[in-house]
Amino acid sequence: MTNKRPSRLRFNFGFFLEATLGTSRTIELNYPTIQVEDLTLSPLTGTFTATRTSEGVYLSGTLHSTLIGQCVRCLEPATTPISMQVDDLFYYPPQTAPEGEYAIGEDGFIDLAPLVRELAVLETPIQPVCRPDCQGLCIECGQNLNEGDCGCESDPIDPRLSALQQLLNPSDN
Ligand SMILES: [Zn+2]
Ligand SMILES: [Zn+2]
Repeated sequence: MTNKRPSRLRFNFGFFLEATLGTSRTIELNYPTIQVEDLTLSPLTGTFTATRTSEGVYLSGTLHSTLIGQCVRCLEPATTPISMQVDDLFYYPPQTAPEGEYAIGEDGFIDLAPLVRELAVLETPIQPVCRPDCQGLCIECGQNLNEGDCGCESDPIDPRLSALQQLLNPSDN
């Protein structure tokens, strides 16, 4: 815990905890690139509203980023824009936070890194594609079909199979 790299997503809410209930404030994030725990998000942008409630500080808003993975069809880089919905209460004092809920530190700081990481992981596509109509690779020669036709035989019905088909479906039946 103590040896963790300091998060760049820590915000001082100390003053805010002194404010009257219902006080709210808009916070804008605009990072061209940022390290969020083990993830690198490029960019991380968005706006959220912080509202002082009796239980702590409620954060609500939408953040945006772009994830870079590998296209499952052609193996080229696949960039996926993602939106992350922030809708979370950070409890204060921290001892009042139920198990598994987020809390504001004793020092009045909120660290958004664990929340942003969790949201980004949830939005990560299981099967990313470089573009919706990606043609993938030729199963014969391995050429990237987005870059052009390779000229391989792509007859959907194998002649041997079509002969079998005739045997299975005799026309005189
Ligand atoms: Zn692709
Ligand atoms: Zn081919």
